[in-house]
Amino acid sequence: MPQYMIRKGIYGHEIAKFDDSNASLDVYTINSRGCSCPARSRSCKHTRILTAWKKSNVEGIVFDDDAQEIGNIFNFSTIANKSSSKNRNSSKMYG
Ligand SMILES: [Zn+2]
Repeated sequence: MPQYMIRKGIYGHEIAKFDDSNASLDVYTINSRGCSCPARSRSCKHTRILTAWKKSNVEGIVFDDDAQEIGNIFNFSTIANKSSSKNRNSSKMYG
């Protein structure tokens, strides 16, 4: 499933698309004129994800194709800990 992350760039917001495959990373820039993706549209999924990102106002959110929050890079350590030998009993959060 594709995953998207946004950061504020110099010329607009940059949205990076990650994938489970080893396909190359796509990065699009969204500014007042729209998105730089091939769709060349003001209403592509990237702009929808940007809108959701602006509403959330939280750092490090990861979105899916439907602009739904699916995680946060700053919480991904809880996932990594599952396979780690370091088990902390105090942590009950398993996303
Ligand atoms: Zn786009």
